[in-house]
Amino acid sequence: MKNKLSTPAWILEGYDSPAEYEKSRGIKKAKIKNEKTFRLRVCPKCGSDEVGVVLTGEEGKGAKEWECRKCKWTGKNIEDKELNEDEFMKYLDEKGEEVA
Ligand SMILES: [Zn+2]
Repeated sequence: MKNKLSTPAWILEGYDSPAEYEKSRGIKKAKIKNEKTFRLRVCPKCGSDEVGVVLTGEEGKGAKEWECRKCKWTGKNIEDKELNEDEFMKYLDEKGEEVA
């Protein structure tokens, strides 16, 4: 038994290249969108975004720390999340905030 090489669909359908074929069928490569991103700071411990900066140490030295108002975590290694617009909207939705 011989293995038949299957002819690609784009050849069978008479296109010049796979790209032409895909174009004609409306197949698009995942396009790189110029998306807006939203940065979010969340607590590394509980994932809450109810975090704020607290100043520790002597005044003027600028020792900044983060504090989670939910679980009382404090520290410097706050988690930085980047959300695209969809994710951000979803996030606001879940928080139950009005989306302007
Ligand atoms: Zn927390």
